[in-house]
Amino acid sequence: MTTPSAASGPAPRSRRVLLASPRGWCAGVDRAVLAVEKALEQYGPPIYVRHEIVHNKYVVQTLKKKGAIFVDRTDEVPEGSIVMFSAHGVAPAVHVEAAERNLATIDATCPLVTKVHKEAVRYAREGYSILLIGHDGHEEVIGTFGEAPEQMTLVDGPEDVANLTVRDESKLVWLSQTTLSVDETMETVHALKTKFPNLLSPPSDDICYATQNRQTAVKKLAEDADLIIVVGSKNSSNSVRMVEVALEAGAPAAHLVDNAEKIDDAWLEDVTTVGLTSGASAPDVLVDGVLQWLAERGYDDAEIVTTADESITFALPHELRRNLR
Ligand code: SF4
Repeated sequence: MTTPSAASGPAPRSRRVLLASPRGWCAGVDRAVLAVEKALEQYGPPIYVRHEIVHNKYVVQTLKKKGAIFVDRTDEVPEGSIVMFSAHGVAPAVHVEAAERNLATIDATCPLVTKVHKEAVRYAREGYSILLIGHDGHEEVIGTFGEAPEQMTLVDGPEDVANLTVRDESKLVWLSQTTLSVDETMETVHALKTKFPNLLSPPSDDICYATQNRQTAVKKLAEDADLIIVVGSKNSSNSVRMVEVALEAGAPAAHLVDNAEKIDDAWLEDVTTVGLTSGASAPDVLVDGVLQWLAERGYDDAEIVTTADESITFALPHELRRNLR
């Protein structure tokens, strides 16, 4: 006589969640959000913020409720007010505009974006033509490009390389946006080096530690998960890249959601293991919401998958350490 378990084959795997570590807020986002909160506390509302301080709907809505006013252009800020520049950085021309309007400025640009700006200035001063790998129209790219517009050419992926022309092939360097896909950027660099053998590389990675770590973590999840959920907003470059990286790494499905309400129950069909992570601008409270949503559907066994330890922190913008009024 066969036992019921032998007859039905191996016991079905129980539903589980693999939770990436690291995930979510990076040091630059933490600093920028804290900077808005400190400025509101120190000077009182309103504090104007040029562009979304970080690319996350929930964070922006929360800061609006506390008295931050988000604007697209510097000329929307009343003369004499305080304006903060977002973590993505701004072109030098924006600082000039702010000075002309007599605005007190607080610069919350992530120090790792500032590092790329400084590289652009240095190479431009040394007479290099700069190939900036990044996404056309992204705020960070607009800011970096503005450091040396006459000497910079945007390269938006490997497909841009074939038709590229440069002023002087012998004095050429590449830089990049901080939140790109590491693999795709290397593909672009390879194509550029094939076309321009004298192309110089920057002294250190422009793609930041947080972007790299989150991509490594989501690749690890993709090895075992039937479905990957990335918590983040659609305008968050690093979050969008994480979905792409997960799919390229072999995940059968991967979706970007702002919060638990945006998850479609149909995605869970035949799914035993869900991989869960979040972009560098998504707060953990949103991930907690997704964990709860999954637990209510039987995915109540959560296991943390750690691929790196992060301990980086950045000091607040120096302007917050003196009185602007
Ligand atoms: Fe800075 Fe990277 Fe975070 Fe952007 S993603 S704010 S570059 S640490």
